[in-house]
Amino acid sequence: PKPLLRVENLSVTLHTESMSIRPVRNVSYDVHAGRTVAIVGESGSGKTVMNMAPLGLLPAGVTSDLDGNVEFAGQNLLSLRESEMRSVRGGKIGVVFQDPLSALNPARKIGYQITEVIEHHKGLTAKSAEKLAIDLLGLVGIPDPASKFYQYPHELSGGMRQRVVIASGISAEPSLLVADEPTTALDVTVQAQIVCLLQDLQKRLGMAIVLVTHDIGVVSGMADDLVVMYAGSVVEKGPAFDILTAPKHPYTKALLASVPRLNAAVGSPFRGLAGLPPDLSKKLNGCAFYERCEFAMPSCAYKRPLLQQVGPTRYAACPLAESAVLEVAE
Ligand code: SF4
Repeated sequence: PKPLLRVENLSVTLHTESMSIRPVRNVSYDVHAGRTVAIVGESGSGKTVMNMAPLGLLPAGVTSDLDGNVEFAGQNLLSLRESEMRSVRGGKIGVVFQDPLSALNPARKIGYQITEVIEHHKGLTAKSAEKLAIDLLGLVGIPDPASKFYQYPHELSGGMRQRVVIASGISAEPSLLVADEPTTALDVTVQAQIVCLLQDLQKRLGMAIVLVTHDIGVVSGMADDLVVMYAGSVVEKGPAFDILTAPKHPYTKALLASVPRLNAAVGSPFRGLAGLPPDLSKKLNGCAFYERCEFAMPSCAYKRPLLQQVGPTRYAACPLAESAVLEVAE
């Protein structure tokens, strides 16, 4: 079947007053109805810009040039006028941001922040919108939703605020929910609850989810497919289980090795990922991961690896992806 969202050769160039950078370079991926695709990468990998720029959600003072195609439910998002985009965003595409405090208006009762979205996208009367908002607060696990409706964001805990943001994100019954680091600002036990909530809502509502995260640990229980980004490009993509159990790109492998494991032997070394990603305002020669790659060969410094098919449903951008070298080096 045709994917619900098809991103094809998307490149994004951002301009501020003082500089231009190209944080997203030729990215392609598909999201099928009802499935979860996790976009994983360190901060600065382009994963957030890649999802926010096509929705017209960039910080004030930043303009962008977008190349490529982003087709959602048969509509090219890049050709929409701002007014058309406003009806898609928050409507058929729900959005959940990282920091619930900045996503909510501190001066408005939480219930009204949800009814606003419902009234705008579903055209309900104020009374019906209020009833639906209370139902949604209950659905996302907020206790005593009828009285919480009248509270302000600062009266709730961080986890409860993120539930409110999720309630708002799903209020127009989107077929796609884009969740950008939905658990990052929360403590670990609350993170797990929010992941469970998203999974539960997906089952009930049948929506697809694009989960943008730097934390490959978050995706393991949730994602069907994985897109691993490095320095603005996709370095590996395919079914999540296959990638998590047998990564084919050195960066994915390093990222997985840097996740602390609960069952690791006591005293076994924790391997963080050393070094920094390259400066995206400069032209890249060769492989972007060259400086940090433990398998780098001299040719990697000047030969840019392309994303290639390395299995029936797997892609990786490294000439070693198909060789046994990565396994042997474990
Ligand atoms: Fe490492 Fe070379 Fe592969 Fe890049 S192309 S990931 S530097 S082995």
